Amino acid sequence: MAKTAKKKSSPKPPVKPVYDLPVQVGQVVELETTGLNHDGAGVGRYEGYTLFVPGALASERVRVRIEHTKKNFGFAKLLDVVQASPFRVEPACPVFSRCGGCSLQHLAYEEQLRHKQQIVKDNLRRIGGFPVEGEGAVTVHPTIGMTDPWRYRNKAQVPIGEQEGALVGGFYAERSHQIIDIDACLIQHQANDEVVAAVKRIAARLNIQPYDEVRHTGLLRHVVAKVGARTGEVMVVLITTEDFIPQREHLIEAIRREVPAVTSIVQNVNPEKTNVIFGDKTVTLWGSDVIYDYIGPIKFAISARSFYQVNPVQTEILYNKTLEYAGATGTETIIDAYCGIGTISLFLAQKANHVYGVEIVPEAIADANRNAELNGIANVTFAVGAAEEVIPAWKEQGIRPDVIVVDPPRKGCDEALLTTILQMQPERVVYVSCNPSTLARDLKILSDLYELKEVQPVDMFPHTGHVECVILMVRRGAES
Ligand code: SAH
Repeated sequence: MAKTAKKKSSPKPPVKPVYDLPVQVGQVVELETTGLNHDGAGVGRYEGYTLFVPGALASERVRVRIEHTKKNFGFAKLLDVVQASPFRVEPACPVFSRCGGCSLQHLAYEEQLRHKQQIVKDNLRRIGGFPVEGEGAVTVHPTIGMTDPWRYRNKAQVPIGEQEGALVGGFYAERSHQIIDIDACLIQHQANDEVVAAVKRIAARLNIQPYDEVRHTGLLRHVVAKVGARTGEVMVVLITTEDFIPQREHLIEAIRREVPAVTSIVQNVNPEKTNVIFGDKTVTLWGSDVIYDYIGPIKFAISARSFYQVNPVQTEILYNKTLEYAGATGTETIIDAYCGIGTISLFLAQKANHVYGVEIVPEAIADANRNAELNGIANVTFAVGAAEEVIPAWKEQGIRPDVIVVDPPRKGCDEALLTTILQMQPERVVYVSCNPSTLARDLKILSDLYELKEVQPVDMFPHTGHVECVILMVRRGAES
């Protein structure tokens, strides 16, 4: 082999910081916070240098230890709240400080809602260039919150493991795979907590081996519980490493006896060494393959694997807003891009002439078709594929939508889809978003032709930092 001429590297000089910072890692300082960022961390400055402090709120005086520094900002650990915000509350959950799930439980709920409205405004202004204050400002409504912002989740996914010989289940401690054993999660529907506690109890009694993630041994990996909030039907999914469950009949009988609301017991087999929860094989052990739930008047079948919004109360509010912004009267053609299991499409179909839904996951479209049939809704057409490919094809086929609704994942819409929307020129665009920054980026592109009329944040995930909103854009000149 020919030798490539390699320059001998001379010994590297010691790494010198190329910038001077007013703080050093490990140093303890006091500062005033001025805001709360999108992750729910307090933001403040120490001698002009920006620090993020998880656990701190806006307008607090805090003592912190510097943990990590970068050129323009750093992260610090909260040691003491010297002067608390008037909106600071005692977190209701005893494991709040260890669980990464709820980042805002220490902030009064009304303030969480105001904070989420502000996050939307900040993104629209900074990224989208939209005016959000004063004359000509875009209307960003106050966040629609929940009357009772607890126990709203209809699905629990709980990892099972072993600690000191005992079966445990709960959640992973932040940034680790160590399971914290817990039987109650305050944002989880009571029925799900009961299922998980019962399965843990019964599995321990029947000596069903918990999964050991490190050694890849044991049987029971996860318990997934789902509840139809309106129907009360409960599904239990046992995720196991292999097909064979010892004392299977006893297990089924005990679950039915100890959780009378259960209507479906399902096993999913995942033999892989992976963080992915579900495996490919699903078997119904007892009862129905699905549970049912309603959003508004529409009935949905929910299987072990199918995606379904986790907060049904707020979902109905979000979808009603979507319907209102679509302005449907019964004569319209509507496209629902990123349609999932067809929830928004079926909602819109009640008030439209025809709805076309497109989604990339084939199983979700199978669910969407089944849900259309279940409700006797015939004026919908679902297609599998990427929205940015299917919708241009629909355009070529001569489909002329009056309204396009998009509900993309966090990364927002593909630019090719936005270009197609600008070419198809529907009268209205309704954008449902779970990420205000990609929303603002995409709206800026559409604003060439569309005017941003209204923005409605809806709190789908109380006590967490997640911000959901729905917006209405109208084609310039299309309406007064
Ligand atoms: N509107 C639905 C689901 C929204 S979640 C509801 O309210 O329940 C976003 C969906 O977009 C997911 O189902 C995801 O599978 C799908 N998706 C992601 N990328 C896509 C693409 N390029 N084209 C179409 N669908 C896509």
